[in-house]
Amino acid sequence: MEDAVKLTEEELKRYHRQILFEPFGREGQKRLKAAHALVVGLGGLGSPVAMYLCMGGIGKLSIVDTDIVTPSNLNRQPLHWESNIGIKKVDSAKEKLVRMNPRVDIVAINKRITQETVRTILKGVDVAVDCLDNMASRYVLNRACIESQIPLIHGGVYGMVGQLTTILPSKTPCLECIFPKVEEADQEPIPVFGPTAGTIASLQALETIKLLSETGTLLAGHLLYFNGEVMKCHLVDVQARDDCPVCGKG
Ligand SMILES: [Zn+2]
Repeated sequence: MEDAVKLTEEELKRYHRQILFEPFGREGQKRLKAAHALVVGLGGLGSPVAMYLCMGGIGKLSIVDTDIVTPSNLNRQPLHWESNIGIKKVDSAKEKLVRMNPRVDIVAINKRITQETVRTILKGVDVAVDCLDNMASRYVLNRACIESQIPLIHGGVYGMVGQLTTILPSKTPCLECIFPKVEEADQEPIPVFGPTAGTIASLQALETIKLLSETGTLLAGHLLYFNGEVMKCHLVDVQARDDCPVCGKG
């Protein structure tokens, strides 16, 4: 597909500093331009993920959220500013992203991820980035990605701690293998620092760029834990579960 994609002189200048990285190069940039990523959630994770994919020259970027910008979003969600309080997050985000890089096709989707909506939202997408804030929606997204064979880049944060993994359907354990379903008593606001969300989001964006451009080695089959409170990071191998209701054989 990327063979049909050409880079303009202007794009070669704009993306020069990443094209200079040889394993990526012009081919990587063309693959990125041919790709369609979906960012699910436009909060502390989704804002920086969408920004980096947009700046980096992804061809098409779909953004999904149903929330309205509130004052308590503003410590960690750089796409939403004080003047945006009260408007839809998808509108606030799209307005900035279009100004950031008008070459990117931005599709704003003001819908919740449910069993009824998820398939339509995933249609034509090359990768989905999980920037959600609750496990119930994550399980729905995970199942649909596995069934549609769409890679999923998971990220999550709490306070100064965060985690990340890349799920490749039929190749790695899925999200429900790693985090078996529990009845969730959440919806309470959780503590989050902007830089923690920004750290995990930056790594999610990097994984997305690597996956789409076929550069480097993905964080597949591993979960990265980041603990900013003591500034430590470690990798844990994750295992598929035979009794996983999504991808298990049992
Ligand atoms: Zn599974």
